[in-house]
Amino acid sequence: MIPAGIIRNLKTQRVFSTMYSIYDDEHRVYRKRIQYAYLDEAAGQVVMTRTDVTDIMEEQKKQQDLLESALLAAKQASSAKTEFLSRMSHEIMTPMNAIIGMSAIAAQSIGNDEEIADCISKIGISSRFLLSLINDILDMSRIESGKMLLKNENIPFEEFVNGINTICFAQAQARNIYYECTVAPDVEECYVGDAMKLQQVVMNVLSNAIKFTPEGGRVSMNISQRKRIKDNAELRFVINDTGCGISEKFIPHIFEPFAQENTSTTSNYGGTGLGLAISKNIVDMMNGQINVRSIVGVGTEFTVDVNLGITDEARHKYRERASYNFTELKALVGDDDVTVCEYTGIILKGMGVQFEWVDSGRKAIDKVTAKWKSKESFDLVLLDWKMPDMDGIETAREIRRIVGPDITIIIMTAYDWASIEHEAKLAGVNLLMSKPMFKSSLMSAFEKVFGDKKEGEHEDIVTNFDFTGKRVLLAEDHPLNVEVATKLLEHRGFAVEHAENGLRALEMFTTTPVGYYDAILMDIRMPQMDGLQAASNIRHCRKKDAKTVPIIAMTANAFEDDIEKSMAAGMNAHLAKPIEPDVLYSTLAQWIFRK
Ligand code: ADP
Repeated sequence: MIPAGIIRNLKTQRVFSTMYSIYDDEHRVYRKRIQYAYLDEAAGQVVMTRTDVTDIMEEQKKQQDLLESALLAAKQASSAKTEFLSRMSHEIMTPMNAIIGMSAIAAQSIGNDEEIADCISKIGISSRFLLSLINDILDMSRIESGKMLLKNENIPFEEFVNGINTICFAQAQARNIYYECTVAPDVEECYVGDAMKLQQVVMNVLSNAIKFTPEGGRVSMNISQRKRIKDNAELRFVINDTGCGISEKFIPHIFEPFAQENTSTTSNYGGTGLGLAISKNIVDMMNGQINVRSIVGVGTEFTVDVNLGITDEARHKYRERASYNFTELKALVGDDDVTVCEYTGIILKGMGVQFEWVDSGRKAIDKVTAKWKSKESFDLVLLDWKMPDMDGIETAREIRRIVGPDITIIIMTAYDWASIEHEAKLAGVNLLMSKPMFKSSLMSAFEKVFGDKKEGEHEDIVTNFDFTGKRVLLAEDHPLNVEVATKLLEHRGFAVEHAENGLRALEMFTTTPVGYYDAILMDIRMPQMDGLQAASNIRHCRKKDAKTVPIIAMTANAFEDDIEKSMAAGMNAHLAKPIEPDVLYSTLAQWIFRK
């Protein structure tokens, strides 16, 4: 404020300003600005105006901070996405390499069945991994676009927990980890909610616990009901592990998409860093929360709270199904893996079946023979396929030789059983089931096998679907999909006619006689006319079977509202691609034979 200084500044600028701060008695800061300008330059008169700019400055600072953090977030998001994409490409490349390499080896090994079977099984494993990766990405995009919807269906709780445990027992055992699950007695027998999504959340946390725990460690899950208000209950899953733990620095980021504690995680443990982000979103939708506590080197504890519904109707329905029990049945379980024996035993016991177990094929034969000699018999023998010394099929053949056709023999296998199906049937096996066993699948297998005996009904239960004499119209634009579907359909006796788009399908349907097609398989995304439009047009055309011909949607974008859209267009069922042959056959059988 020295006059000479002010005049010197005013020589070069018409107006200039200076800033200063003052503090009041309570140490609050005020920012002041003084502006200087000539009032009358000739007379040497200068005018000074003082303004309080505290608010303006604060606002500016806030704006600037906001902009800076937005910029930072945008940069971070973009680099996370770039990093994610490159990691994803790597993740996709690994199974892709296996698929391409194995196909080439298989092509060179024509004639060598063993080598080809090995290649095909490896291709299967890699494809399934790819599929799970794509499903994760789809889930993320469903969440981001708000398209993920929750179902309200009955969740028979014991079945639900058993399902999870069966998978976890196998995963934990493969890594030599002790796994246990405890359920508080106050949980209900049936809840209402989205079973698949809840299972996805719990399985993700549990698989992580198993994945990040070294050999010899422990993983446990405790389930309890926290609150019950009228028709709502809060359920708590606490999952503990003695694994590597998570650093304090990483915990705040753990639920962010694509976040992994270190980049070596993917190569060491697999996974995409999407699991927990998806889980957190699902739990939020269930009005719940998911929390984590961890100590590096000691272990981790995840707590998942979710809100589920309870209805009397649900309880009633569940009881109805559960009342179909099998108390008169005697079963023998044969598996070299004692845990599987015990676990299958628990499931059987839950269904009311009396059971015994043995740990080898030879012992199974001895047990069956001893019972046979004392004029008694098992109703059911469940055998593992891969057992040392004597495998399941050999054992089955021997048992069948001793006791004749009365006993039901089921082979359980964790492997793809298509390759042994024929041999097993020749050996007298009634049914093949995949391990891990789910109570629900055992239940329906039993209903299938014993339904006739119990109910005295003679409904022909088709397991080996034969569609000879049936004709299907396949509307699909992608040549490779056409080839796969045609082969699968022809394999079971179908005559297949192909339409390359919806318009052509409509034309083929309308220009053929009534009843010419037994079913229509309809892709949704097709050029010229999409599947929804084609289905709706077929339903509205004047042909006599237009309303009744089964139309089954086949689509890769299995969002919930796509299913609704295909139903609204008049389709009867919806199959997700990639096509699971068994699901395809059973859906077709359901609509063709029972229409
Ligand atoms: P992914 O397991 O596919 O990497 P998630 O979203 O499920 O993705 O997990 C994100 C990350 O959180 C993991 O990569 C890991 O670093 C960390 N994490 C999750 N659960 C555990 C656990 N039980 N112990 C140690 N680290 C864990």
